[in-house]
Amino acid sequence: MKNTDMRKIRKAMEKAQDAKRYEHTLGVAYTATALAMRYGASLKDAEMAGLLHDCAKCLTDEKRLAICEKHNISINEIERRNPFLLHAKVGSYLAMDEFHVTNSDVINAILNHTTGRPGMSLLEKIIFIADYIEPNRKQAPNLSQVRKMAFIDLDQTLVVILKDILEYLESTEGEIDPMTRKTYDYYTGKGEGNE
Ligand code: FE
Ligand code: FE
Repeated sequence: MKNTDMRKIRKAMEKAQDAKRYEHTLGVAYTATALAMRYGASLKDAEMAGLLHDCAKCLTDEKRLAICEKHNISINEIERRNPFLLHAKVGSYLAMDEFHVTNSDVINAILNHTTGRPGMSLLEKIIFIADYIEPNRKQAPNLSQVRKMAFIDLDQTLVVILKDILEYLESTEGEIDPMTRKTYDYYTGKGEGNE
């Protein structure tokens, strides 16, 4: 990965996203890079995954559904009703197809950034958490503590964030992707497959 490639990706995101989304993208990229410094992950992979994680967020629902259908990407019931949820799946596809990302860890970090999954890699955790704590986020509860905690204990931070997401979705009667709960149960030790 050359520096010019990173610059190209940044430029492409600036073009594809509205100003607010692009600020969020940059926030996730540098927050992920800082977390990568703290936990010894690849800084370049963190920056790349951060820049690309929402690359399919500014597409229309129709476009996201069309990309899935064209490339045989499975759509579950919940995604069918809420196609914005597909931005992670479609984003990971575009990362490979349009931005020629071949590193599977980067692709997985994009794919799993909204729900997490049991047994996440270090990079997947970093992107999931950076997405939630980057400086442009304002609404989430306990943000200042969560931000501090992210630089102390990643797994504990995951649990706090997942709990907030589940509580928020329950209070708004938003639809919950079952994977979010699975991830939560796994990291609280309630899930299957825990040692
Ligand atoms: Fe996202
Ligand atoms: Fe995001």
